[in-house]
Amino acid sequence: MTHGRGENPQRTGMTEKCGVVGVSLDGREATRPLYYALYALQHRGQESAGIVTHDGFQQHSHVEMGLVGDAFDPSDLEGLAGAAGIGHVRYPTAGSVDSSCAQPFSVSFKSGSLGLSHNGNLVNAEEIRDDLAGKGHAFTSDGDTEVIAHDLARNLLEEDLVRAVKHTMQRIHGSYSLTISHDDTILGVRDPQGNRPLCIGKLEDGYVIASESAAIDTLDGELVRDVRPGELVVLHDDGQGFDSYQLIERERTAHCFFEHVYFARPDSVIDEELVYEVRRGLGRKLWEESGVETDVVMPVPDSGRAFASGYADAADETTADGQARAEGDDGVEFAEGLMKNRYVGRTFIMPTQDERERAVRLKLNPIKSTVEGKTVTIIDDSIVRGTTSRQLVSLLRDSGAKEVHMRIGAPPIVAPCYMGIDMASREELIAAGNSTEEIREEISADSLAYLSTDAVAEALKTDHEDLCLGCVTGEYPYDIEGEPTDRKVTRPEIGGSRVSADD
Ligand code: AMP
Repeated sequence: MTHGRGENPQRTGMTEKCGVVGVSLDGREATRPLYYALYALQHRGQESAGIVTHDGFQQHSHVEMGLVGDAFDPSDLEGLAGAAGIGHVRYPTAGSVDSSCAQPFSVSFKSGSLGLSHNGNLVNAEEIRDDLAGKGHAFTSDGDTEVIAHDLARNLLEEDLVRAVKHTMQRIHGSYSLTISHDDTILGVRDPQGNRPLCIGKLEDGYVIASESAAIDTLDGELVRDVRPGELVVLHDDGQGFDSYQLIERERTAHCFFEHVYFARPDSVIDEELVYEVRRGLGRKLWEESGVETDVVMPVPDSGRAFASGYADAADETTADGQARAEGDDGVEFAEGLMKNRYVGRTFIMPTQDERERAVRLKLNPIKSTVEGKTVTIIDDSIVRGTTSRQLVSLLRDSGAKEVHMRIGAPPIVAPCYMGIDMASREELIAAGNSTEEIREEISADSLAYLSTDAVAEALKTDHEDLCLGCVTGEYPYDIEGEPTDRKVTRPEIGGSRVSADD
């Protein structure tokens, strides 16, 4: 599906920011490991959860709306027989809650059964859907995962697994990390630009493919490596190993920088970097670029915590103007000045602005003694609509802060995400139409500074050209209708003759 400028892809029933997992074991049932892995990936999606397994004879599926803990009861898990399977957690949207898009998507067809879990967003799903519908395929949802499943099923009627996956990869354009079950064979696929994370782990008696390494840790496994951009990984049915096929090669990757900034768990290793250390590194750069000497620095829990710790560490070493600290000058004190009520859900998904403001107040409460009579810096990872920062600044002033400065561990978010993060539409993004000074005024902070894109690339130890920075530059690494692209990528032609099997 394509989107007009400023339109939020999340409101159109597409596949979103999600967590995926696939497991193949040597005899042991896969259900429990899949279930625990989904728990570890819960932060990537709270709208629905599902597992599809295969016992060598038939496919079993259970998909339910809600959190992992609510979606399965013991009898559901017992019904999911087999040593191989995949799982999925789906991100909530601000719009309608639609069970037809819950995953894994599963289907049986002439050459067996398929299960599919998708994290990401295709930008040409509508074109492929129209083409397949014209060839007699009937669709039950408006999600792009079903489009991938139908295309793959069609290819599997005529060719072997690896070619079938390759030809589907040549047709789909956009962001995708997939776990797939073809009968009891488990596959992992990452899009040629590696937009969303996906990694391989070794367990005592098998292998796992998961969105984040934290899921592998939960299973007492060992991270083997990331799935490479454009790679297909096929787990052996006996749990003893995996095969790798580099099906598509691209010169440049387009890793989503926001995974490292906000989305992923800090204890995950993505593209060989521990997310927590990347965030601390971003915090250090924030001090170097825009440090301000205040009595205390405090994180917005939990999203700003690692940034604030890196910021405070750097502030212990140098002054805000880059000089070594004099003896006895301890820098800026790191303090937990805001307490979070962990039972309140994410403010972001509250449908109205009024509710969002109320939710921030429910969620965060200042600790008066850390704030009263002090100059304060608060650190968060990002400003989206500005709701959280506006509320926090006023809350801290009400609690007696003398000055409130805000530092943000990412550049201003000026454009929507088409690759799967619910980032609000252009009209809602406070930085889309306002300068940093205007935003500072709007949130009533004494000063406000963001991080540069250079600092982001440095902290991630990569080049700008290998990152997807679409939401902070407005230029995307994919060919999205109505939006500029920052590289030479074109959508595949859909609807003509099929790609040659020799490709
Ligand atoms: P806002 O209040 O709209 O400015 O949103 C900023 C807050 O939302 C920050 O505390 C972020 O950590 C958090 N945030 C940023 N991106 C997202 C996202 N895609 N989904 C949910 N929360 C987010």
